[in-house]
This record gives sequence, C-alpha cells and structure tokens, in this order.
Amino acid sequence: MELPNWGIKLIRRLEEKGFEAYAVGGCVRDMLLGKKPEDYDFAVSALPDETKQALNGVPVFDTGLRHGTVTAVVDGHAAEITTYRTESGYSDFRRPDKVGFTRSLSEDLSRRDFTVNAMAFHPERGLVDCFGGKEDLKNRILKCVGEPERRFREDALRILRCLRFSSALEFAIEEDTRQALLKHRELLKKIAPERLQAEFSKLILGEWAEQVLTEYLPVFQVFLPEAGQRRSALSWLPAEKKLRLAGVFSGCTPDETARALERLRYDGKTIRTVTTLERYRQVPLETDRRQARKLVFLLGMETAEELLRFREEPELLKWLEVIRGQGLCCSLSQLSVNGEDLIRLGYPEGKGIGKALNRLLQLVLDETLENQKELLLKKAKSWMKLDCWQQK
Ligand code: ATP
Ligand code: MG
Repeated sequence: MELPNWGIKLIRRLEEKGFEAYAVGGCVRDMLLGKKPEDYDFAVSALPDETKQALNGVPVFDTGLRHGTVTAVVDGHAAEITTYRTESGYSDFRRPDKVGFTRSLSEDLSRRDFTVNAMAFHPERGLVDCFGGKEDLKNRILKCVGEPERRFREDALRILRCLRFSSALEFAIEEDTRQALLKHRELLKKIAPERLQAEFSKLILGEWAEQVLTEYLPVFQVFLPEAGQRRSALSWLPAEKKLRLAGVFSGCTPDETARALERLRYDGKTIRTVTTLERYRQVPLETDRRQARKLVFLLGMETAEELLRFREEPELLKWLEVIRGQGLCCSLSQLSVNGEDLIRLGYPEGKGIGKALNRLLQLVLDETLENQKELLLKKAKSWMKLDCWQQK
C-alpha cells in the first residue's frame, strides 16, 4: 500500500512543522482493496490557519472552514485537508450542533461512519485501524463505528450511505447495523434532497444495485415512494446514471418520473433525458437505418444513443455509428440546401420556406431522396407553384 508522491510530500510538509497528518477515509479503504482512489483526503492535527501557514508556498483554498477543511493543490493534485474533528449534538438528525477540533486522531476516526471508512494511513507509521476496519474489509462487511442506532440517529444520511457502499463495494451489512438502519429509516425524511440525490446516484451505479433496491425497498420508499412501482431489473442496464434512473422508474409514467426526479433536485437535462427514455421505452421500432435516422432527428444523437442502449437495440446502435461516421443528414442544419437557396430559386420569403425545408428533410430521412443539392432543388422547384398558391 503506497501513497502517491505528492501525498507523501504533503504529509512531510505538515509534519516538519510539528503537526501530525494522515491519509484518511475512502482513499485508505480503496488502497486496501487494491483500487485506485478517486480522491485523497487528509486529516491533520493542525487548525486550518496552522495548516495554511505550514503549507506556505502551496496554493490553499478555504473549502469548509466551519468544518475545518481546506483544499491544497500539491503538484497539480487537489487534496482536502481536514483538522481532526469531533462532533456532538445532532438535534436535527442531520447536522452536528457543534463541531469541535481535537489533537487526537482516534477521536477523529471515531466520528466516521463505517469501520472500513474509519482508517488512517501514514507513509512511515503505516495503518491506524482502531475499529477493526481492516478485518471488516477482508470479510466485506459494513459495520457502524460505535453503536448503530445512535450513529443513524445522529445523521440519518448514513442509512443511505450504508446502502450505497453495500451496492458499490458489494459488501454485506452487519446484522446490528442492518436492523438499526431499517428501524430508523423514517429519519431519511429529514435529510436534504441534494444529499439524498448524491448518494442515490452512486448507489444505482453499483454492482449490487438491484439486490439492494429490492432488499431495502422500505428504506427507499421513505423518500422515493415510486421505487415500489419498479418493473425492470437494473442489473442488465449499463452502469450509467440516466439509464439506471430510467430503470428505477420503469413502471412510472413520464410525469411521475419527472416529479420524483424534481423532488430529488436532479438537473433539467437529466430529467428530460430520463423521461424521454420512459416515453420511448416501448414504442415499436424498425431495425434499419431509416429508423435510426428518424430517432436522431427526433431525439438528437446523444439521447438516441442512450435510448438504444436502454432498450438494448444493437442493430440500431450500429446504424448510429454509420450515421455518425458518414455524417448522414438527420437535421435541418445538415440539409444540403438552405433558405437562401430556395429564395434564389424564386421562393417568396416567409413561412413557406421553412415548410419546404422541413418537407425536404422528411424525404431525406425517409431515404426517398438523397441529400444532394441538385436533387433537393429540383424537388423544391416542383413544389414552388403549390407553395406560392398556399401562401395566398
Ligand atoms: P467515495 O470514494 O465514494 O468518495 P468516501 O468514503 O471517500 O467514498 P466521502 O463521502 O467522500 O466518502 O467521505 C469521506 C469520508 O468522510 C468517509 O470515508 C467517512 O470516513 C467520512 N464521512 C463522510 N460522510 C460521513 C457521515 N455522514 N458520517 C460520518 N462520516 C462520514
Ligand atoms: Mg471521497
């Protein structure tokens, strides 16, 4: 197990000034699992101001001073550095009333959620594991640090985090922890939707998403009653957020889906794509190039591709590749004629032009006409009299 050089350097810089610093949390867990961590968090005995002083010369940003967190950029890598912390209070089930700083690493580790997330690592002193995290990691078990009921009452988000880690790491949940999270599930109602969203999005991408959603349905129904209507399994869907969300809401109408996603504060683009996937989930489709072009026209390349992956349509996906590779026309902007061409042909300026262009595009999408200027102009000319007549 080894920290990257910039991390070692960071720890040295802090320790040269007489403080104590460790890599902590998710990165230690991931390193022990043999996975490359997405990001590295550090804990330090120094107060934020002391950290900044000690790192003199390194760019440091205040990210969450109230919680004792600053972000330092070392050799191009951003690292969150948080002062050893204690928490107390939690009268609202989601935020500690009081955050205190401490000079003791083990106190800091004891406030962390699960044993596998409560380890620290030092390049020379090695692993600090006060709660049996390494053993639980070996046995692939999620277990609260301390007494589970109290920990979930302190911060109910931990209930969902537990299910998220179970899904993502493929870890079982230790029995007392499991009982406690089921017992206190209603407390999830107190948690801000943005925080639920962040954990839920990671959960549905996990390898065990299907099992977890099924086994812990009553927990999900606390903040997502729609979860009970789900009709298709997530396991066969690619691990992409929008596709998996569409899977979660299979069985809901597009309107119900949109309302649920809005409640969890998903962004507009995600909501639009997911509801489109729902809308087109069962529409009968041909498997030829024409069909593929019409889908690209209707939904745009990106959403069309997502839909076809969602529906598992390998033939049509191949046609999308062809369309992309050959730059086949699927939109007005790709048509070989434009409004000016039609005006030059003698079309009167006005609505008739747009109508004619759209009609040409439909013929091209239908593959009854090739996207060639000459051919398109000839067709447009043959319509001219009729269109002029319609304008009057
Ligand atoms: P990921 O790899 O998904 O980022 P992570 O374990 O790093 O997983 P974070 O949400 O980034 O998860 O949190 C970093 C660390 O902070 C955790 O490993 C854990 O020790 C601690 N932590 C985070 N949220 C909580 C919480 N709600 N209660 C207690 N400890 C927490
Ligand atoms: Mg993290």
